[in-house]
Amino acid sequence: AKDRGRNRFCFYTADMNVHAVAQLELEASLRRAVEREEFVLHFQPKVDLRTGLVTGAEALIRWPREGRGLESPARFIPLAEKTGLIVPMGAWVIEAACRQLRSWHDAGWSHLRLAVNVSGRQFHSGDLPIVVAQALARHDVPAGALELELTESMLMDDPEQTIAVLTALKRIGVQLSLDDFGTGYSSFAYLSRFPIDTLKIDQSFVRNIVTEPQAAVIAVSIIDLAHRLQLKVVAEGVETEAQLGYLRQHDCDEMQGYYFAKPMPAESFSELMVTAKAL
Ligand code: C2E
Ligand code: CA
Ligand code: CA
Ligand code: CA
Repeated sequence: AKDRGRNRFCFYTADMNVHAVAQLELEASLRRAVEREEFVLHFQPKVDLRTGLVTGAEALIRWPREGRGLESPARFIPLAEKTGLIVPMGAWVIEAACRQLRSWHDAGWSHLRLAVNVSGRQFHSGDLPIVVAQALARHDVPAGALELELTESMLMDDPEQTIAVLTALKRIGVQLSLDDFGTGYSSFAYLSRFPIDTLKIDQSFVRNIVTEPQAAVIAVSIIDLAHRLQLKVVAEGVETEAQLGYLRQHDCDEMQGYYFAKPMPAESFSELMVTAKAL
């Protein structure tokens, strides 16, 4: 098999550019990393804008690679999507998040929630509800402590299947949020049809919220829309005190962003839970 692999490699390199070879190498090491579960989660705190207290975190995957440090998801998630590796990788993320929730709840922070990102392929893989239910059960985590961040585009793919999956997930009891809201199809139809709990205002609006009237109008409209539909609304990518003030003034429920904290390893998050003052 090794020989064949080498031949195949030579055959392909003949008319392949350097970029394609690099992609193949990246794919091979990504496959190995998935098999060996060589990933870590970093956690970015989410803060309640009324109390100023940390309510939980978004779990973000990182890939520690020898000689390259922590590879960012922008480098490998697209490839994981393309190759289907995102499905086992995504299952690992859910498992690791539930394990971490158990440990934080045991430490006395039983109010903490964790959000994980779900990719389109993972969502439509057929066994997402089972993966979620098994991970929750294995670590004895209350379903309400786990949140799945979905995107608009993955919900538009196959409306029938989408409703079936969302319904199964809500029956289990996990929280569902719409990530990057306002950047996708933004069809209002699904907001009433799909059992969503939370909207996340995309960073592109938050970034310009105090400098561009357009962005501010959109952000405030999303907050208003969410509240009228009895949904929670979270702003992401908050980097300045001015942005924070604006969001507070306009009644946004929660925020996350570099202004409060960057994504960090689990131990740092635990330290922050002990030392952080209310925002
Ligand atoms: P996302 O879900 O929209 O996550 C937010 C991204 O914005 C994160 O980048 C986060 O580090 C970054 N961010 C947070 N606060 C700020 C801020 O104040 N300013 C700026 N400029 N950026 C901020 P990250 O961790 O590099 O992740 C990028 C994307 O990769 C995520 O976007 C998500 O789509 C994807 N991703 C990350 N982890 C996973 C995962 O476990 N599974 C899947 N399917 N996708 C993931
Ligand atoms: Ca997200
Ligand atoms: Ca986002
Ligand atoms: Ca994003």
